[in-house]
Order: sequence, then C-alpha cells, then structure tokens
Amino acid sequence: MRILITGANRGLGLSLVKEACERGHEVLAGVRGPGSSVEKLQPLIEHYGEQLTLLPIDVSDENSIRYASEQAGARFDGLDVIINSAAILLGRDQKLEQLDVEQLEQSFQTNLYGPILVLKHFLSLLRKGEQQAVINISSEAGSSAGAYGGDYSYALSKSALNMFSAQLRAELRPQDILVHAVHPGWIRTDMGGEQAPGDADASASGILDLVERRTAAEDGALFIDHRGAPMR
Ligand code: NDP
Repeated sequence: MRILITGANRGLGLSLVKEACERGHEVLAGVRGPGSSVEKLQPLIEHYGEQLTLLPIDVSDENSIRYASEQAGARFDGLDVIINSAAILLGRDQKLEQLDVEQLEQSFQTNLYGPILVLKHFLSLLRKGEQQAVINISSEAGSSAGAYGGDYSYALSKSALNMFSAQLRAELRPQDILVHAVHPGWIRTDMGGEQAPGDADASASGILDLVERRTAAEDGALFIDHRGAPMR
C-alpha cells in the first residue's frame, strides 16, 4: 500500500512510518517544514531508500498542502491510505477564563482544517488507489461523553474532527473507502508525556492492522480506539 502520514517526524507519526515501512508499505512521510527535526526519520530514510519519501507538508497552510499534493500527484499514480496524525495541544490545563482565542484558532487550523484540507487536495489521488482508507487521529478528549472541563481548544477541535470524519465517511461510502476517527490511547510522546501508559509503536501497529483490514471496527463504529473498539 502507498500511505501518506502527516506529522511523521516524531511521536505517533514516526511510529506509523516505522511500522508501515517494516510491513513493506510505501510511505510518504509528511513533515511540517524546514524547522522540523528529521533526526529520527533520517535512519529510516537511509534504511528504506525509495520506499520512504519525505514530503514537506504544513497542515496549517493550504498552499503547502496543495503543493504537496501536486508533488505527490506528479510522482505517484495513486494513493491508498491517508493518516492524519499531525496535531497540536495548546493551552493545556487552561480553564475557560484563561482561554486564548488565538490558540483556539491555531488548534482548529491544525487539528481540524488540516485534515479537511489534506483530504480536499489528496482525494483525487486517493480515488485512484486500492483498498483505500482514511484514518483521522482523534482523541478521547473529543468525546462529548468524556468531557472533562479542560483543554478546550484541543478537545473542541478533535470533537469537530470526529464530525468531519462522519461527513467524509458518508461522502466516500459509495466508493467503499474506509474512514475512521481513531483514539490512539494515551501514549508516550512529546504530547502524551512520559507518564503515559501506552506505547506509540503498539498504537501504530493497531492502526495499521485496521488499514490492512486485519482487524475491523466493532459494529462498524466510526470513532474507535487503535484496536477497533468503539469510543463513547
Ligand atoms: P506529538 O506532539 O508528539 O507530535 C506532533 C506531530 O505533529 C509532530 O510531528 C509535529 O511536527 C506535527 N505537527 C504539528 N503541527 C503541524 C503542522 N502544522 N503541520 C505538520 N505537522 C505538524 O504528538 P503525538 O504524536 O502524541 O500525537 C499524534 C496524534 O495523536 C495527534 O493527532 C494527537 O492529537 C493524537 N493523540 C495523542 C495522544 C497522546 O497521548 N500522545 C492521545 C490522544 C490523541 P513538528 O515536529 O514540526 O512540530
């Protein structure tokens, strides 16, 4: 399979790149820009050669996404999977009265508009793929049933991402394209912190099992964890 992964230089995105390459897939590793460290991707690029392509893509910038889709379209005849993993968590622990509207806007720009615009510009390439899947990496923070009265910007952006995923699933159903919003678990990354119980590599493996149809979401649920269990 040919798989585009955004936010591929660290955290869950990096684990997804590693796992996908190990499984023999061709990977387009989306990296925000020149300021992003590709230190952890470098050994993979050296090891996997042409199987792994670095694709500059800042998901908060439509021009960058459009350009990346043109680059990909010029080089590849199709795309099978899109995994939107890039995201930001700003203003952690801020209560409503401390809420910074700019951070709210930035969060929506990256965590919601990012995946929407990636789909907008890469959909034509995805339509030419096979056994297609779209995985929007969401969070239990976006579940209205689990609202905890904090991380407003992040939680609201992920909640809206779930709705986008529902809309997309409905639009793409006639083409039989799999669409899920996936909570990867609380995992040890820069965002999750060292106290997190989960391992990013294990989540990545579960997500790839879903993409490869080795596992399926229980009852066809849209919003699931990385093992396919429905989220509330
Ligand atoms: P990290 O903070 O460790 O990594 C975030 C990644 O997103 C980095 O690669 C970063 O690139 C990239 N990114 C941020 N902004 C942009 C942008 N504008 N354009 C392109 N790339 C960007 O996060 P995680 O790996 O932990 O998170 C991955 C996904 O999992 C996210 O969607 C997150 O919301 C979700 N998630 C994570 C949980 C956890 O416990 N860690 C729990 C629930 C959900 P750069 O290096 O350039 O900043």
